Parts: sequence; C-alpha cells; structure tokens
Amino acid sequence: MIRNAVTCDREGCLALYLEPEEPVNARFEELITEAGWVLRPAAQVLPGHPAAPDVLAHLCPACAAGRGPVLERGKCPTCTGLAEDLEAGSTCHYCRKVVPHLADEWC
Ligand SMILES: [Zn+2]
Ligand SMILES: [Zn+2]
Repeated sequence: MIRNAVTCDREGCLALYLEPEEPVNARFEELITEAGWVLRPAAQVLPGHPAAPDVLAHLCPACAAGRGPVLERGKCPTCTGLAEDLEAGSTCHYCRKVVPHLADEWC
C-alpha cells in the first residue's frame, strides 16, 4: 500500500512520521500538525536555506521543541525517535511523546 510520510527538514534529523494504517478522515497535513509537526517557511527555520520564501519546511516535534535532531530511530509514533520504557509508558527520548503501556500487555 502507499502511505504518506513526512520527514524532518532539519539537517541530520532522522525523524519520520508515517500515515496511520487505519484510514482516518483527515488530511495528512492535519494529522502531522496534530502529531506535533510544525510547518514553517523554510527560510525561517533553516538558516541559509536557498528555498523560496513560500516553501514550507517540516519540523519534527522534537526539533520544534528544541530537543532535536533525532539521531536514533525507535518506535515513537510521532517522530520515530528512540523511546525508552518508563513507568508512565514508552517515552520518546526526543519529543517526549508518551505511549501508555497497554493493560493487556503481558510480558
Ligand atoms: Zn527533526
Ligand atoms: Zn518522538
């Protein structure tokens, strides 16, 4: 199947957001901004970027919060960053997204 994906425009950042597999009734742009991605004019967020002023750059939630760039891939659902298992759930090392442990997860 073909899924939309967005990558972070910050140099060296490995962040990636994949469209959910379940069909959702929303535009991809709405999904990514809901997930914490930021769309800003490239000239504002990427100093020295040669793009035209109306070109939008995509910043991952980690870079948008000043916690990027994402250097290690993991299982974070919003930035694909490395997450560590804390008591509250799987917590992204980069964007701090917390995915609570499932109650029916026995291990
Ligand atoms: Zn990033
Ligand atoms: Zn993350």
